[in-house]
Amino acid sequence: MNSFDVVVIGSGPGGYVSAIRCAQLGFKTAIIEKYSTLGGTCLNVGCIPSKALLSSSHHYAEIAHFADHGIEVSGEVKVNLEKMIARKTAVVDQTSGGINYLMDKNNITVFNGLGSFVDATHVAVAKADGTSETIEAKHTIIATGSKPSSLPFISIDKERIITSTEALSLKEVPKHLVIIGGGVIGIELGQVYLRLGAQVSVVEFMDRIIPGMDGALSKELTKVLKKQGMKFYTSHKVQSVERAGDVVTVKAENAKGEVITLEGDYSLVSVGRRPYTDGLNAENAGVKISERGQVEVNDHLQTSASNIYAIGDVVRGAMLAHKAEEEGTMVAEILAGQKPHIDYNLIPGVVYTWPEVAAVGQTEEQLKAAGVAYKSGSFPFKALGRARASADLDGFVKILADAKTDEVLGVHMIGARTADLIAEAVVAMEYKASAEDISRMSHAHPTFAEAVKEAALAATENRAIHV
Ligand code: FAD
Repeated sequence: MNSFDVVVIGSGPGGYVSAIRCAQLGFKTAIIEKYSTLGGTCLNVGCIPSKALLSSSHHYAEIAHFADHGIEVSGEVKVNLEKMIARKTAVVDQTSGGINYLMDKNNITVFNGLGSFVDATHVAVAKADGTSETIEAKHTIIATGSKPSSLPFISIDKERIITSTEALSLKEVPKHLVIIGGGVIGIELGQVYLRLGAQVSVVEFMDRIIPGMDGALSKELTKVLKKQGMKFYTSHKVQSVERAGDVVTVKAENAKGEVITLEGDYSLVSVGRRPYTDGLNAENAGVKISERGQVEVNDHLQTSASNIYAIGDVVRGAMLAHKAEEEGTMVAEILAGQKPHIDYNLIPGVVYTWPEVAAVGQTEEQLKAAGVAYKSGSFPFKALGRARASADLDGFVKILADAKTDEVLGVHMIGARTADLIAEAVVAMEYKASAEDISRMSHAHPTFAEAVKEAALAATENRAIHV
């Protein structure tokens, strides 16, 4: 029987990063993946393909502004969706190939098949050819991720009533895409098809889109997307989603009991994701699953079975690739006797629309609810030279700092390249910087990053320069 120090079940960003870190630390490591490609949700049907389509559709949308830049295009410019999707698939294939290379390079044994616990130290791998192999694992790391969830009365047919997975491979641009759920995934994919010419309507139960983020970001993103033509039905509870032929009818009710009916040709159900443990037989190993379907873990990501750990989307916390990666690294280092730590408050969240939305730390709503005295400084991108040069004028950076100590408590941004700019805020907060600290650091001119410095100046005695 094959025997390993560490067996990782699932090859998403949590699993494969954990396997690499385990191998780096000298453990004999194996990884089990039920699909034929490595990389999990993120790489195959999540982060990477969605960003590929966002990127392609962004290029297309930019054509509308070519004339402003003195670029004349003669002849018709049209979308070839088949090619666009093929490019996305090629990006995914290449990236997945890169993970195979990394597994080889780190001498990690890859098993293709469904992993399930026989007991706490043995995992059976059921392979596609019908055979099964049992391997011995001193330690196991569960990194089985998540799957799209739905509402009990919606039947997803994967043709017209779809999840994000199908939305990444459509054969035509919808005429009217009705999106159920205005969270990150729904809004990103909504912008893709809006740019490609679809009418897009978003129905959201809460009173705003991207409800987990600071209210000011929701407001600004809603404003920008409305300008681009997206329609929003917030504070609406979906009652039914029915398909008749090529028509999908969505009914939703507002707080006053008024019912709206939206007819589209596709409906994207993006109401969240559920932790995935199907077929894992966790109970055979004594691993407890919570009522919400998550693998229960302690602060060290250890499950109720002491030699088994769990990371990523399958455990509590934000369902984000970089959170899964940090946890993967943390478990490997714990197994090696180190004492790693993750500050979950400093896991940034990003929406890859354009303008991009990014945040780290506490929102104003959270600070208010916790009764923390804070001050706030904002700076609009439209006042930046760099933003004017590229006509990326929407958005702002907002810094929230402790009223007494000036320590930065939260940074919230919407605008060009904020997905990358947020890293400065993470570094600053990791080192417990004050707003004053950021305001005194030189930021290259002209850059979008200057908005961070200006917001810090605004947060400290309202001394921004360019407003
Ligand atoms: P997963 O990536 O879900 O991987 C789990 C793997 O385990 C899968 O490959 C699965 O097949 C395998 N598996 C499950 N059970 C078994 C078993 N019993 N045996 C063997 N293998 C098994 N996050 C971001 O941070 N940034 C983004 O831009 C972003 N965009 C997204 C866009 C979309 C459309 C979606 C759907 C998600 C997006 N996410 C994004 C979320 C991100 O994909 C997840 O947070 C991340 O993939 C979680 O990683 P994971 O390793 O926990 O699990």
